[in-house]
Amino acid sequence: MTQRVGIFGYPLGHSMSPALQQAALDEYALDALYEAWPTPPDRLAEAVAGLREPGCYGANVTVPHKEAVMGMLDRLDQQAEAIGAVNTIVTESDGKLAGYNTDIYGFLASLSSEAGFDPAGKRVVMLGAGGAAKAAAFALVEGNVASLDIANRTVARAEALIAELRSNGAETSAFAIDSTGLADRCANADLIVNCTSIGMRGSPSPDASPLLDGAIQPGCLVYDIVYNPEVTPLLAQAEEAGARTLGGLPMLVYQGAAAFEKWTGMSAPVEVMMAAARRAMEEQTR
Ligand code: NAP
Repeated sequence: MTQRVGIFGYPLGHSMSPALQQAALDEYALDALYEAWPTPPDRLAEAVAGLREPGCYGANVTVPHKEAVMGMLDRLDQQAEAIGAVNTIVTESDGKLAGYNTDIYGFLASLSSEAGFDPAGKRVVMLGAGGAAKAAAFALVEGNVASLDIANRTVARAEALIAELRSNGAETSAFAIDSTGLADRCANADLIVNCTSIGMRGSPSPDASPLLDGAIQPGCLVYDIVYNPEVTPLLAQAEEAGARTLGGLPMLVYQGAAAFEKWTGMSAPVEVMMAAARRAMEEQTR
């Protein structure tokens, strides 16, 4: 029986997950099909219940369902519970549904494998305080950063995120994204991470960088989790400043790799998934 697996979201737009997951399934010649399942909120419970049927690995979950889906599952792993969001559902052998969040793994694995960066003891400035920022902030605190400054357009949201983090000894503070204090923090940062949608193709601000010119110092690693385009305005600005850069595609691939391993019990072919994601992005931008 062909195994089913797919992604719930609404609208789904051009999700890259079908391309990178199908490439991984095909690499092992598994009889399995990964599909896009655009699902409006009022159909989500019914669609999730369908995962209990035989012949299903589970699903990925994206915007706007990552929180709502939690109440439809039988159990949640610790990280999903801590972040309050699920991006991967696994159908277990008895039909029970388990919820995971593989974004934390995707964030840390991309930092370590692609940039050789260990967050322990580092000073980090994070831009943004939405869903992706939350996973990144939990990951950084888990990785024992020395300090984490969160800057956001809506400062109250950055403050709320800091209040939710068990800071693990890290110094934390919230800033407005356009504050002068932020420039000092950036000047002393080992890592600057953009988790806003500024610079994303198709967003209201595709040509903008979240930072002013001069804010980035050469010794810093600048990580933009926006993956489309591959070189965002922030990354171009960082390259010009002589800083090291990391784009968002590896995070997408590593969170997908962790989901693949949970569904199949097999080691994810990361290089194959990365190449498939790059091809899918090139096709989208053609
Ligand atoms: P979200 O929950 O909607 O959060 C959006 C964030 O961007 C908020 O902090 C928001 O600030 C800020 N923002 C949006 N427009 C802004 C503007 N014009 N000026 C200043 N700040 C602005 O979105 P999300 O799910 O966290 O996703 C954020 C980005 O990360 C997206 O581009 C997404 O594609 C990317 N992402 C990448 C991966 C990956 O695997 N690489 C995974 C997840 C997400 P306010 O709070 O003030 O509104």
